[in-house]
Amino acid sequence: GNHVCECHRCYQGPDCSKFLYDCVADADSGDPLVFEPFWMQNAASSALLVAGWHRMSYTYYDHTFISKELEEHLRKVHEIGGNAKADGKFILFGAGSTQLLNAAVFALSIRNTSSPAKVVASTPYYPLYKQQTEFFKNGNYEFAGDAQLFKNNSDITSNVIEFVTRPNNPDGQLNKAILHGPFVHTIHDHAYYWPHFTAIPAPSDEDIMIFTLSKLTGHAGSRFGWALVRDENVYSQMNMYLSMSEMGISRDTQLRAFQLLKTVVEGDGKDIFRFAYSNMKKRWENLTKIISLSKRFSLQEISPQYCTFFQKVRGPSPAYAWLKCEREEDTDCYAVLEEANIIGRHGNLFNADSRYVRLSLLKSQDEFDLLLYRLHELVSMEDSMK
Ligand code: PMP
Repeated sequence: GNHVCECHRCYQGPDCSKFLYDCVADADSGDPLVFEPFWMQNAASSALLVAGWHRMSYTYYDHTFISKELEEHLRKVHEIGGNAKADGKFILFGAGSTQLLNAAVFALSIRNTSSPAKVVASTPYYPLYKQQTEFFKNGNYEFAGDAQLFKNNSDITSNVIEFVTRPNNPDGQLNKAILHGPFVHTIHDHAYYWPHFTAIPAPSDEDIMIFTLSKLTGHAGSRFGWALVRDENVYSQMNMYLSMSEMGISRDTQLRAFQLLKTVVEGDGKDIFRFAYSNMKKRWENLTKIISLSKRFSLQEISPQYCTFFQKVRGPSPAYAWLKCEREEDTDCYAVLEEANIIGRHGNLFNADSRYVRLSLLKSQDEFDLLLYRLHELVSMEDSMK
């Protein structure tokens, strides 16, 4: 009949069996489709049907912008994951963690000081911190680059806001704050602080901790993040930011997040972590197997650590590979990979050397397999290059 099937973008032909030899492995974005099979296995319990008359109001029954049921489920997920002390902390919802990062900078920078607060992060850092801080820059704060530049803590005599990304994007290291003192405030970005991406040595108990559904369940498109905040004053300022910009986040998104988390906490609530951990671990093992045959490329090393979630010492299962080109002449590692039909993210974006490239390990299995195939090709060429 008229039925037309679309092939995977790397295949052609009437039965989609012809592999396109120059098909590009796209490992650029952190699109978390690695979670897709989990949600296919749990299709029924996670499905959502919303009647037209449902949840039309601006607010919930208690006149807030926050669903109490969702809040309770989030606190429960932290208890199950053992990754954060949520008890006694204020909670805020944002349009992705992206919105909360800037809300936190806004809140921490409202002080009676003459000079703007300096916003910093340790290199290599997630590019959005710089981009967003510069974009929304006001009289109260400005981006000031690498936290190392302020390392001599006794020199810090005006406000500094340090982004601490634990574990770090791009290199998966369990970063800690490097700046301390009465003028330093930290924002802990815990997007990846879940048992599937890192060992959890202890529950985090920081002043501001930011999480995202994007990297817990993989629903990046729902744009849902949350913050746990210790100080009531900081909480109020962040809440003000969220009220002023959009009167709290979409009630529909909260409903979706609630339905997903209901599925997550079913049974002992550990299934999603087991699923994602075993996938990420397998991906890392397969990747390291290939790169270990190479003299031209190397990967970051992540030391095994005791994980309170799995109750054992466990190896790496990071969200990204932080690949380095080791050869003298390979100064632009992004270009080296591009030549081999692999698209990564340029090290420069992370304030790092262009010998580095970030490769996403979070995409669908098809995409990841293609990435392995291209890397295998590239590494196999090394012998003939000698
Ligand atoms: N923080 C880090 C470290 C991230 O890697 C990301 C997304 N890749 C985010 C925050 C933002 O995620 P989202 O807005 O989807 O919550």
